[in-house]
Formats: sequence, C-alpha cells, structure tokens
Amino acid sequence: MLLLAIESSCDETAVAILAGEPGQPATVLASEIASQIELHRVYGGVVPEIASRNHSLHLRPLVEQALTHAGATMAQIDVFAATSGPGLASSLLIGATAAKAMAAAARKPFLAVNHLEGHLLSPFVETGVVPPHLALIVSGGHTLLLDVESPGNYRKLGGTRDDAAGEAFDKVAKMLGLPYPGGPEIERAAATGNKEAFTFPRSMMKEPGFDFSFSGLKTAVLYTLSQRNPESGTPLREDLADLCASFQEAVIDVLVTKTLRAARHAGRKTIALSGGVSLNKTLRSAFEEACRREGITLATATPGLCTDNAAMIAFAALLHAFEGKTSPLDADIDPNLRLAAS
Ligand code: ATP
Ligand code: FE
Ligand code: MG
Repeated sequence: MLLLAIESSCDETAVAILAGEPGQPATVLASEIASQIELHRVYGGVVPEIASRNHSLHLRPLVEQALTHAGATMAQIDVFAATSGPGLASSLLIGATAAKAMAAAARKPFLAVNHLEGHLLSPFVETGVVPPHLALIVSGGHTLLLDVESPGNYRKLGGTRDDAAGEAFDKVAKMLGLPYPGGPEIERAAATGNKEAFTFPRSMMKEPGFDFSFSGLKTAVLYTLSQRNPESGTPLREDLADLCASFQEAVIDVLVTKTLRAARHAGRKTIALSGGVSLNKTLRSAFEEACRREGITLATATPGLCTDNAAMIAFAALLHAFEGKTSPLDADIDPNLRLAAS
C-alpha cells in the first residue's frame, strides 16, 4: 500500500510517501520538509497568517518533489492523508484541503490523522509493529504520558499542567539569549556544563499521579539569572553552560522518574519516546540507563521522525488504512483535537 501524507499543523510544511504492508516494516520513500523557522524568527513566534500563506506556496512543489524522490506517480497512491489537528486552524486547513482534493481527483480514500498520534507512533515506523507500551510524547506543545494497548487504543495517564517540556526549553533559551528553537541550543551549551552547578526544582516529581509542571523551573532559572547578575538579569558568560546543564538535568530527571513510574503502574515492559525533545542525547541516555536497570525495552524514533514531519502522519494513516478506516471528504479540521480522554 502506498500513502501520501501532508503535515501542515504549524510552521512546517511536510509531504511524505510511505509504502507498507500489515506487520511489515514501513518504508519511507520520501519525506520532504519546508521549514518556516527563519520567516517567523523575527517575530519571536509563529504568525498564523504567514504560516498558512507559506503552506500554500510550498505544498505543490513539495508534493511533486516527494513523488520524484519516491519514484512514484500520483495514480499509484492508494490513500491520501493529512493532519486534521491539533494545530493552527488556518495552517491545518491548507494541508487537509489539499489532501482531500487529491483524494477526490484520484478517486482514492482520504484519511484525517491526529498530529499527536503521528508523534506517538513514530518510534515504530521501522518495525511496522506497535506493541503494548507506555508512551511519552515530549514536543513543543505537549508533554503526555499514555498507556497504549494497541494503535487507536490510548489511555491518558498524565500531561503538563502548564508549559510543555519543549516549550520550557524554548522559553529558558530565550531568557539565556539563545535563538529559537531552544532545545538544540541548550543541549549544545549543556555539553560543557556542570549539571550540579545549580539546584533547580523538580516540580511534582514526588507527588502521586503522572502530571507535570515546568513553569516553576522556568521561574527558578529567571530568579537565578537576576541573582547572579542583578545589573541586567542576563546570564554571565561563565554561567551559561552550567545553567543549561542544570536546567536540562532537572527536566530529564522529572521525565525519566515519572515515565518509569507510569510504566510500572501500567505494567508495561516497553517505553516509547517521541516528539522533538526526544532528540536530546542526554535525555536518551538517561532513559536508556533507567530502562536497562528495570528490564524495560526502549523505543525511540529515528532523528528525522522526531520533530514535525509527514512520514509519521503517513504511518499513522497506514495503520488506520489496514483496519479499513477512511475519513469523509467533509471531515473538518479541529485545532483542539485530543488524543485520549484523561
Ligand atoms: P506539538 O507537536 O506539540 O504541536 P511541535 O510539533 O512544535 O509541537 P516538535 O516539532 O515535536 O514539536 O518539537 C519541537 C520542540 O522540540 C521544540 O520545543 C524544540 O526546542 C525541542 N527540541 C528539539 N531538539 C531538541 C533537543 N535536542 N533537546 C531538547 N529539546 C529539543
Ligand atoms: Fe509536532
Ligand atoms: Mg514545529
């Protein structure tokens, strides 16, 4: 089965073509991405109007590029899929409308995909099989712990009460004068820092339940900055690496502790990490070590599948297609689409 998927939920326009058969590893034949990060950077955040205009601009060339890279023709595509939420309404509309139009023109089925399900299933593209597991989605907008019985069968165990983990990386990076997106910048600076130099709070780590809170940590970094440099509140040059390492360690400590506790609670022997923050190498090694200690298998996505991409949307669609599911052509987008009720 050959699928073409479009992802346009925020500021990344992405098109992928995936080949797959039930129970077999899926093959990403093409995964094209046009990032708009540079366009929005000057505004300090994503401007919806600019995002949707650029999705319209990039989509057609990206579809053609994907077909060329995959060595496929439009007529060979069996299913057209697109992200239908959560995300920016005006951005979601561009991708979803384009996928529906292609499906209608080719007289092939359309499938609407939840962006978070794309992230969630991304660690399993390479095997094509999704075992029962405990999932941690750590992205720019979400920090979610889910108990996964099978694809489509999700139970939310916890989420963030305020900032998402990726958002905390981005906001703290901004305070430290580092560019957006902050995650990779903090990871780079942390590499030469001492993670014990500053003691930052591990909010809600000892409390029962599986929710997270990262806004107190952000405030603690801000407070430390103003203490260390009362003049301007900006980081002292000699503090930067230590601040990044200590902040990163606090985030990782909470994520690892709560995820392993959730796995124990749900009786799962596999943990899957997804979303942009799961690219962080220090976080990956902390999870590897903790999982090894507890005899848990760790599944992570290949780097290209962690941040927003359309291959993960195509894979989620593929699993739905195997179950015979399709979406009507009048299926609406939903900027607040949820993955599982809590
Ligand atoms: P959502 O899916 O919740 O709508 P998103 O799609 O914007 O959010 P992703 O693209 O999955 O999120 O991830 C982007 C986030 O990942 C950003 O917050 C970025 O700072 C963070 N990130 C990327 N690389 C790293 C890294 N190496 N370390 C920590 N964080 C990282
Ligand atoms: Fe995302
Ligand atoms: Mg993004």
